[in-house]
Order: sequence, then C-alpha cells, then structure tokens
Amino acid sequence: MSKKSNTRQWLEKHRSDPYVRAAQKDNYRSRAAYKLEQIDAKDQLIKSDSVIVDLGSAPGGWSQYCARRLHGKGLIVAIDLLAMKPIENVLFTQADFTQDAGLQALQAALAGREVDLVLSDMAPNLTGVAVVDQMQAMHLAELTLDFCTQHLKPGGHMLVKVFHGEGFDALLAQTRKQFKRVVVRKPDASRDHSREQYLVCQHWRA
Ligand code: SAM
Repeated sequence: MSKKSNTRQWLEKHRSDPYVRAAQKDNYRSRAAYKLEQIDAKDQLIKSDSVIVDLGSAPGGWSQYCARRLHGKGLIVAIDLLAMKPIENVLFTQADFTQDAGLQALQAALAGREVDLVLSDMAPNLTGVAVVDQMQAMHLAELTLDFCTQHLKPGGHMLVKVFHGEGFDALLAQTRKQFKRVVVRKPDASRDHSREQYLVCQHWRA
C-alpha cells in the first residue's frame, strides 16, 4: 500500500473514532482525556482538592480533565518535553522529566507540598526496535515510581502507562510492595491495537 493511501486510511479512521469526536465536542485537546476519565470513574483517583503531578502532559487532555475535576482547588503541576498551551490552574514546565532541570522545576512548582496523585502518560519516542522501546518505556515508569518515593503523600496514588514485556512483572511486584492496591487497566478509550496499559496504584504505604 502506498504512503498516501496509508495516510488517508489513518485520517478516515481518526475522524470516525468516537473519542476523537467526543474530544472535539467536549473541548478536550486529546482523546486521551477519556482514558483518565474512565480510570478515575472506576478507581476514584481524584479528590476535589488533590495536589496532582501530570508527567508527559502535552497536548493537555489529562491536565484539562484534572482542572475540570478540581474547580480551581488543589494544585496541578505538569511537565512535558513539548510545549503545551496554558490551561487555567495548571503550572506547566517544558522540560525533560528524566533530567535534573525537569525535576527541579517540578519541585519548585510544588513548593514543598506533598502530592496526592502522580500521573504519567509518558511514552518514549519509538525507535521501532522493540527491545529498546520497551526498555525506555519501563525506564520512564521506574522513574515515575522513584518520583513517588520523594513526593507522594502517605495514602497517595500513582497512575502510570506501561507496556507488557520485559520489566513489566518486576515493576508490578515492586508497586505491590509499595502500594496497598494495584490493578492493571485497559480503558475502553485506549485503542485495541495499542499495547499500552495503565497501572493504577493506590494507597502509598510510605
Ligand atoms: N496525557 C496527554 C494528554 O492527555 O494530552 C498525552 C501524553 S502523550 C501520549 C505522551 C507525552 O509524553 C508526549 O507529549 C511526550 O513529549 C511526553 N514525554 C515523553 N518523554 C518525556 C520526558 N522524558 N519528559 C517529559 N515528557 C515526556
């Protein structure tokens, strides 16, 4: 199949995707917002005054969903390698979460406040080499867990995107030691062909 018809097929699929349509109607920047909405509906991750960190936030669907849930209360601190247009009540930094400068920016924005919920929808730039992509994805998830050890409140929650493969079972075992409840979710809004899953980790044992 030619590159052109591949692109046309992708566009047609994208336009007919119910979550793409819903995102346009609901004014969400990405269909990803519904993944968080569906997980939150099941697992009650967000309280009305939560302090939330959104890792890999651009273009902003998850941050928008959080901002709508908080109604100006709590705090949302977000970071991405890419630029993100401002969202009311979201403190955004464009930086690399894996580097000291990114971590320092998050710490400065939190200003000593402990975090109720750490979200990570981060995905590495795919190289096409499965083993490398898996390693990088797991590395981001592990760093997210490290971030929790520094900043999460006792009883706090983490939601992190993961891919089944090398390192997944070890991460699952690790999170089960550190959180009282851990479940794996594949929300309806996550495309069937995508290997992504989400680890919902609740009640940090500190
Ligand atoms: N949750 C977002 C939403 O609702 O719009 C979509 C996130 S998108 C699937 C993944 C994001 O992770 C990308 O924007 C990418 O730039 C970001 N990302 C990947 N590695 C990162 C890193 N090391 N530091 C910060 N952001 C990163």
